[in-house]
Amino acid sequence: MFIHNREKVGATPTFSFLEEIMSTFNIAVLRGDGIGPEVVEEALNVLTRVGAVFGCTFEFREGLAGGAALDQVGRPLPDETLALCRSSDAVLLGAVGGPRWDDNPPELKPEQALLGLRRRLGLYANLRPAKVFPPIVEASTLKPEVVRDVDLLVVRELTGGLYFGEPRGLKKINGARTGINTLFYSESEVERIARVAFEAARKRRRKVCSVDKANVLETSQLWRSVVKEVAEKYPDVELTHMYVDNCAMQLIRHPRAFDVIVTENLFGDILSDEAAMLTGSIGMLPSASLGGNVALYEPVHGSAPDIAGQAKANPLATILSAAMMLRYSFQLDRAADAVERAVNDVLIEGYRTADIAAGSAGNIVSTSEMGRAVVDRLRNWSEEGGRTL
Ligand code: NAD
Repeated sequence: MFIHNREKVGATPTFSFLEEIMSTFNIAVLRGDGIGPEVVEEALNVLTRVGAVFGCTFEFREGLAGGAALDQVGRPLPDETLALCRSSDAVLLGAVGGPRWDDNPPELKPEQALLGLRRRLGLYANLRPAKVFPPIVEASTLKPEVVRDVDLLVVRELTGGLYFGEPRGLKKINGARTGINTLFYSESEVERIARVAFEAARKRRRKVCSVDKANVLETSQLWRSVVKEVAEKYPDVELTHMYVDNCAMQLIRHPRAFDVIVTENLFGDILSDEAAMLTGSIGMLPSASLGGNVALYEPVHGSAPDIAGQAKANPLATILSAAMMLRYSFQLDRAADAVERAVNDVLIEGYRTADIAAGSAGNIVSTSEMGRAVVDRLRNWSEEGGRTL
């Protein structure tokens, strides 16, 4: 039985025998602002098709967040939304923000919804894959021979380090203006993010590169020794260490060498953006934030007010975020593989939204046409062998 039967894409299960083994997953859906609602709609269509093909049920429960919540209830993250997220198996977020709320005071900015969700859900690990899909290898600013087959994952510590350390602030010392931030990491903070990285590596090519600045920073020396201790529990995963400055170079020089990169908050902020640019378009980049009982999945991009409502948004980042949800929250690895392959298939067939159309003779399609193309590629997916029927 499909609790949320989305007629548009058809929800008739392809394999009736699978109904007997169906699981139900509750997903909190926060569409947000700008292109958020448009791209989330396509991801929900894809999840509904995945349910039909792989024999599981997704119940979508909608909540307000960001500017949409400000307009309706006067707060960016209403208590009801937080409660909805806490009682769900996972959260899918579109994007929040836009010029309408730019002049709001800080506590009434749409972006407060994101910060509030991360903090209140205890999301200390941010996972950002950077995968170059072969059909759009030309979309990268780097040479195709450098970025071809890149498939890496940056695991960034999200709630500690320099961004949160105390003391912090601006003050005058001996008459001179001074800025202070504190880099602080405890053993347990390093241990838990390292575990996320090793677990993620087990779902990939079983290689972890821990990035630090242990030649200069004591926090990095602690980081390195704790990561080594955690690694002892994962003898099947290869661990290497790299200084952050070298990592910044190697990401541009030989990005294929990386599988999982694990690093602290500030380094991860910078390196994940650098890694993202290997792939070409922000419209292709998914993310996951893990740590608490409920994980949050969202595209890396924002609400793109410049193209909102014009059916131009690329929904693939959100669709790939849904694939991450299948893999990391629901352990539906084959379903996640199927979605990622469906995305690759539509790109091979030449489907392009405007942001990835450069240099392509492909078919420029709207947001919903791209979403439907992915759904169509999933339509005939076989649970047995991951092959089209
Ligand atoms: P943005 O990511 O929204 O847009 C940057 C550029 O990329 C724009 O030209 C946009 O058209 C394009 N773009 C983004 N996503 C796209 C997609 N899926 N398909 C095609 N093109 C796409 O960043 P911005 O313009 O700096 O921010 C706009 C608003 O979004 C701001 O209010 C900002 O605070 C907010 N924001 C929200 C999040 C989030 O919700 N996680 C993240 C970043 C920015």
